[in-house]
Amino acid sequence: MSSSSGIHLSRRRFLQSAAVVSTASALPRLRSFSSAIGSPVAHSDTFLQEFSYGDVSLDSPIHERQLQQTHAVLMGLSDDSLLKPFRAMIGQPAPGEDLGGWYRYDPNYDWHTFDAGFAPSATFGQWVSALARYHAITGSQEAKEKVLRLNRLYAQVIDGQFYENNRFPAYCYDKLVCGLIDSHQYIGDPSAFDILKKTTDTAFPHLPPKAVEHGTSWRPGKDESWSWDESYTMPENLFLAYQRGAGERYRQIGAQYLNEPFYERLARGENDLAGRHAYSHVNCLCSAMQAYLTLGDEKYLRAARNGFDILSAQSFATGGWGPDETLRATGTADIYDSLSKTHSSFETPCGSYAHFKLTRYLLRVTRDPRYGDSMERMMYNTILGAKPLESDGRTFYYSDFNFKGKKLYSPHRWPCCSGTMPQVAADYRINTYFRDARGIYVNFYIPSRVRWSRDGAQVELTQKSNYPYDSHVAIAVQTSKAATFPINLRIPAWASGASVAVNGKRQEAEAGRFLTLEREWKKEDRIVLELPMSTRLEAVDPQHPDTVALLVGPLVLFAIGDSQPALTRGQMLAAKKTATQSWSVESRQGPLKMLPWTAIEEEPYTTYRRSRRQGPSTRLRIAQVFVPEVNERLYYFAGVIVMLRNATCPASLPCR
Ligand SMILES: [Zn+2]
Repeated sequence: MSSSSGIHLSRRRFLQSAAVVSTASALPRLRSFSSAIGSPVAHSDTFLQEFSYGDVSLDSPIHERQLQQTHAVLMGLSDDSLLKPFRAMIGQPAPGEDLGGWYRYDPNYDWHTFDAGFAPSATFGQWVSALARYHAITGSQEAKEKVLRLNRLYAQVIDGQFYENNRFPAYCYDKLVCGLIDSHQYIGDPSAFDILKKTTDTAFPHLPPKAVEHGTSWRPGKDESWSWDESYTMPENLFLAYQRGAGERYRQIGAQYLNEPFYERLARGENDLAGRHAYSHVNCLCSAMQAYLTLGDEKYLRAARNGFDILSAQSFATGGWGPDETLRATGTADIYDSLSKTHSSFETPCGSYAHFKLTRYLLRVTRDPRYGDSMERMMYNTILGAKPLESDGRTFYYSDFNFKGKKLYSPHRWPCCSGTMPQVAADYRINTYFRDARGIYVNFYIPSRVRWSRDGAQVELTQKSNYPYDSHVAIAVQTSKAATFPINLRIPAWASGASVAVNGKRQEAEAGRFLTLEREWKKEDRIVLELPMSTRLEAVDPQHPDTVALLVGPLVLFAIGDSQPALTRGQMLAAKKTATQSWSVESRQGPLKMLPWTAIEEEPYTTYRRSRRQGPSTRLRIAQVFVPEVNERLYYFAGVIVMLRNATCPASLPCR
């Protein structure tokens, strides 16, 4: 061992012991922590629990298509191709086809080109994770065998040189941890924790000693591209490793890499997001939530809640955030300006993956349905309408909310977003239902089925609906024997006038709440939920009240086409549904087609429109109401003008 790595090691050991002291001080605050490894606060009865991947089946073609497409791409990648950058980076023979793009290892890579070779092997751990989750969903033996094979091949290439030759050692380590703990959890890979230990032992001397901010240099003699790592995102997966039984060590390392100054300021309500890299800092908020769930210190919960609120205030109507991958200061016009300045509005697969995790953790801890509303908005208006991942590495990266928007693939192959997209696709089911010791929470209204048992009764809920393209959601309850428990339904904040009927008996449902239906449930009980889909406008920010997006229910409606006729607010709000996933707004120039994100393909579109508050002048409108003759005269004069034009213009000329 070289003297330099010896210095690293001793500093690491010092920091580890320091972390033990600091986390031990949090222990007396915990009620259920004392039951040792495997029973942290995360398993407290107070919080909602996730279902297992296999408990929920989705019957929604758009969700399932994304799962199957991403899975087919991953299964199509050869083991040698997947291992190639690992082997090349440590000087081993590296046979097989080079995947290219960001996945490639090129020792002469020049970051100014920002293309092939940017982040070699960075998505490997996420792909292993997605394959493991896919096995948990479907029971696929092929997926299981691939995970077991990849983990064994990977175990042969664990070497410090990989981290030395890597711009993103913490990023890669974090994703490898994720793949290995998912292999343990969902595949039952008996070697996963041993491989995790070897990975951690090997990586540690090459990682910074604590969370280092994006853009801060910590390796001497390296250019700025070596300062873009994301060590501040590591605690989330380390705490999960601890919760899943990998050992106390991972709780300690998780605490060691907490981005304390960031959390301190957020916990005080200060906008410490401004100017920071967007996706990785939302992941950092996920780490705060796992810190809260593992260590129990409420500061981390406060930081995550405040962080979410600050993020929401600078989000697009679609739920996306971070134009040009940057979070913004409060009260600026940055989001409005981005509508004409950039097409890189929201890093969609990575951003939605982080957002779903953050809001899922917050929903579990607080039971506040606005986190569910936020998840739903992001799902329908960003990731669910992403272009599919392709086998050559083409990946949907940015959603474009520019005034002149278009859905395009990233020019980079196998970017970061190709790592998160298969994970997002696997996770729709665990975002749909939650449970506590007493009952169930329905978060998403997706055609689906969930099964669980309580007090010896087998219970099954089956949802059928065309929501959100229809306001009607039918839920059938099946029980093996009569059972009394609550079914909690998320009533979105926009759904005023919502109602629910149990076996035909209807009652009102308050918007922005979980509606609790507690009764003795029997076989064949039926719940019918009505969530009225009225239109509404949302301004891009308070300074630009006339720049608005049109929404119906959770859906943003995008104006299709290059020409964008002037519209009044009244005209937009009067949008009429013309097909299952199509709306129309009447303008002076004729009907304007409006589509939800999931129905847009190659067409140009606009997310926000500058809309006039008024239609005709106020005086004319008063006259129209009180003096009917005014309207008759207007129509009369319009008719005369058409007659005169037709009389004076030859039929062959364009004036007809
Ligand atoms: Zn990404």
